[in-house]
Amino acid sequence: MAKVYNFSAGPAVLPHEVLAEAQSEMLDWHGSGMCVMEMSHRGKEFMEIIHDAEHDLRELMGIPSNYKVLFLQGGASLQFAMVPLNLLGDKAGFDLVDTGHWSRLAAKEGRRYGKVNVVASSEDRRYSYVPRQDVWKCDPNAAYLHYTSNETIGGLQFDFVPEVDVPLVCDMSSDLLSREIDVSKFGLIYAGAQKNIGPSGLTLVVVREDLLGRARADLPTMLNYQTHADADSMYNTPATYPIYIAGLVFKWIKEQGGVKAMAARNTEKAGLLYHAIDASDGFYTTHIEAPFRSQMNVVFRLKDEALEDTFLSEAKKNGLVQLKGHRAVGGMRASIYNAMPIEGVKQLVHFMLDFARQHG
Ligand SMILES: *Cc1c(COP(=O)(O)O)cnc(C)c1O
Repeated sequence: MAKVYNFSAGPAVLPHEVLAEAQSEMLDWHGSGMCVMEMSHRGKEFMEIIHDAEHDLRELMGIPSNYKVLFLQGGASLQFAMVPLNLLGDKAGFDLVDTGHWSRLAAKEGRRYGKVNVVASSEDRRYSYVPRQDVWKCDPNAAYLHYTSNETIGGLQFDFVPEVDVPLVCDMSSDLLSREIDVSKFGLIYAGAQKNIGPSGLTLVVVREDLLGRARADLPTMLNYQTHADADSMYNTPATYPIYIAGLVFKWIKEQGGVKAMAARNTEKAGLLYHAIDASDGFYTTHIEAPFRSQMNVVFRLKDEALEDTFLSEAKKNGLVQLKGHRAVGGMRASIYNAMPIEGVKQLVHFMLDFARQHG
């Protein structure tokens, strides 16, 4: 069997143990005689699966009881519209921190429904930093403040949770469950599953109950959080198989020691890679300022851009795949989510040192 270390930004690597378990249960889930894909979403087997998934997620994140967990579809991109459509209420607009690609898209979509007040932007220095909160120009009448805790494409991550007077909304698509957070500081958190949680096709939303019920009256039923909150994500058919796999991932994280243990591992993995970059004498570079270097997506360049294709093809020969950066920023990107073993990062570092020695 071909075994590679997959550094894709998403859909991304899943824990080997989870895939092996899914394989062993593929034809017969727990003696039901059925594959999870074949089950009625309202049958007792699947009800158990979604119940356990929610229970484990609540435990892992410490989600307070006045928050709903919703298992939705449409990706994080649909949340760029659903959040304003549901939370603006009678307010004219919302606040947003611009830290790169995904926050810009959230702003662009948000402008279709209201005024978007960009409180701060790091575009002036190529999105190499997160603007500190003391320079933000917040609107006291904003319905909420939206930020992107980890910019998956730019490789830029918040090292703090904003303190604001309005509900805090966060796109955590690429760092949910990678480090501990205090959910009670947030009004709403959303994440597409395919980065750090499970397969594509599932979007998680964690929303404080008092924020429900503000949706526009003409909103399609399916776009109203209240619909899904009232029906425990069973208003219509949810993404059953992705929910099942996400549930296995939650169990896996618990077995690994929970989010705290994940965070320690993630810090160690990212540390190894950034150290290799910093110690390369300029052969590898990253323009992201140290406090904001993403622990999930390590974005870097080669001093000699002409070597990039060789780097990628030789990496591939060494079983290190999907290292090409996003076309919007170029260069390299190593995504090292929870499921990337430290051994994979060590092999990448080893390869980078070798490559620099040969071509430096
Ligand atoms: C991938 C990503 C998105 C878009 O997710 P889709 O599920 O493809 O819509 C949005 N925000 C962030 C931070 C992402 O990483």
